Amino acid sequence: MEETSHKRVELQGIGVSPGVATGPVFLMTTEEDRFVERAIADDEVAREIARFEEALIETRRQLHDIQRQVGAAIGQQSASIFDAHLLVVDDRSLVEEVIRGLSVQKKNVETVLRLVTDRYAQALLRVEDDYLRERAADIRDVSRRILRNLSGAASSSLANLDTPCILVANDLAPSEAATLNKQKVLGFATDLGSPTSHTAIMARALNVPAIVGLHDVSVRVSRGDTVLIDGNKGVFIIHPTREDLERYGKVEEARKTLQSSLDRLRDEPAETIDGYHIVLSANIELPGDVDTVLASGASGVGLFRTEYLYLSQKHLPNEDEQAAIYEDLARRIAPEHAVIRTLDLGGDKFLSTVKMPQEMNPFMGWRAIRFCLAQPEIFKTQLRAILRASARGNVKIMYPMISSLDEVLKANLLLDECMDELRAKGIPFDPDLDVGVMIEVPSAALTAHLIAPHVDFFSLGTNDLVQYTLAVDRVNERIAYLYQPTHPAIIRLIKNTIDVGHQHGIWTGVCGEMAANPLMVPLLIGLGVDELSVSAPAIPLVKDVVRRLRFSQAEELAQLVLERESAFEINEQCRALVGQVAPEILDLLA
Ligand code: PEP
Ligand code: MG
Repeated sequence: MEETSHKRVELQGIGVSPGVATGPVFLMTTEEDRFVERAIADDEVAREIARFEEALIETRRQLHDIQRQVGAAIGQQSASIFDAHLLVVDDRSLVEEVIRGLSVQKKNVETVLRLVTDRYAQALLRVEDDYLRERAADIRDVSRRILRNLSGAASSSLANLDTPCILVANDLAPSEAATLNKQKVLGFATDLGSPTSHTAIMARALNVPAIVGLHDVSVRVSRGDTVLIDGNKGVFIIHPTREDLERYGKVEEARKTLQSSLDRLRDEPAETIDGYHIVLSANIELPGDVDTVLASGASGVGLFRTEYLYLSQKHLPNEDEQAAIYEDLARRIAPEHAVIRTLDLGGDKFLSTVKMPQEMNPFMGWRAIRFCLAQPEIFKTQLRAILRASARGNVKIMYPMISSLDEVLKANLLLDECMDELRAKGIPFDPDLDVGVMIEVPSAALTAHLIAPHVDFFSLGTNDLVQYTLAVDRVNERIAYLYQPTHPAIIRLIKNTIDVGHQHGIWTGVCGEMAANPLMVPLLIGLGVDELSVSAPAIPLVKDVVRRLRFSQAEELAQLVLERESAFEINEQCRALVGQVAPEILDLLA
């Protein structure tokens, strides 16, 4: 795989999902590039021709519209530049070449169109004539417009990539990451993003190596370039050398050996050497993740991010559809519990089916419980479905983004209404099911004593707690250095929540990414946490750290860090303890 003719370039980003991968780049730079090269069968050619012709008609219509609008606004002279674009759409030789190419190359129309228009444009660029050289830009513009129109009725998507590749993009939406074909996407790298963006969380759940925050990687690589990514340390190498491949191959081998050596812990309890037990459960995004949860040795599901049910389909899932999914989860996870978090839309997760306003600060806007309380029918549909599943197993309801007691009371009133409705229809449910809240907004952490009497548990959403407490957008890579889970303010909010929970006799878990960070595990245990909930692939490593630790060491650490003044010092303190009890784990971390 060595490419001696190319210059090796090494970039540093933020490793967000461990593992090393090497392969050719599949580049997604702009919206219209989001198509996938796909082989087609003989009987698909006619359909691809039809898609192409429809896209041409739509493109022509759009160009005429623009021409009219521009003509009316700034005069016919300016509008005439679109004549050149229309000439491209009507260029029979170009159109026929694409149609011929479909039968010869047996590739989807997007791929063939791109090849043909690239060739035309390059030929024009070589001509010593300014006028003709400008036509190259027209061809590219029109080609992009046709591709965009084709994608409206796309027959191919990221879910059906043909060959294994490393996906490189400016950014990737969580819903796109959720549909990646794991067999074909060996790993991905993006210009934007941060470790707690939902895209990064999804990469970890899928167990696909990933790097974010690479700034300009999507303009530095070309489609097909060989690249190597190390998702542990955030290293991205364009045209890796033979030495790189050997060196990183060894790193990956060591990681895999460590991982498989952890399989032996599957049925062991998550317990410290001196017998302090915690509940170690798993976060899931999609119902299918239950298989990996069951194989991981987790004790139940501590967070089901149900919004992905809504993001992965074109309509809102109705009560029966949701009930079937939750019932299946409850049955499969029994006798363990499943914490089903109600819809957390907004922030970086949006629906195409529900019109949501464009917001300047979506993470601080119409998100999660705020959206649900404003859309009681959508919310109640989900609550009834969860209640129905409570008759089949140990399910718990959790409200996200609570910022005041008032919201808890309102949500509970709607839950009571749902119980009455089910009772009236004679549909069974568990009237005593646990109802808890995520503590992820500082105001909730500071008023945990007011909320505690009304709920059965707390789960600390440290991903948002850090973003809201430190005023650091969790998906903005420019300020990722300020995103510090060990900031003294965060440690105090966590401690307060756990202490208040215990004073009121309720358990407190952590389901944010902090719980999956081996460095943070001893600290959270020392602060008294009852449950850690992490993505299934992270379960073995977290369990390993717990089992090598003495509770007394964790307590000492917690005492010590409360006296420290900065995130850095606290982090170092955590690192020192993990270095003492599990030194080989440190090597894996950035
Ligand atoms: C959190 O905020 O920590 C959390 C677990 O929820 P999400 O990452 O889905 O916002
Ligand atoms: Mg959250």
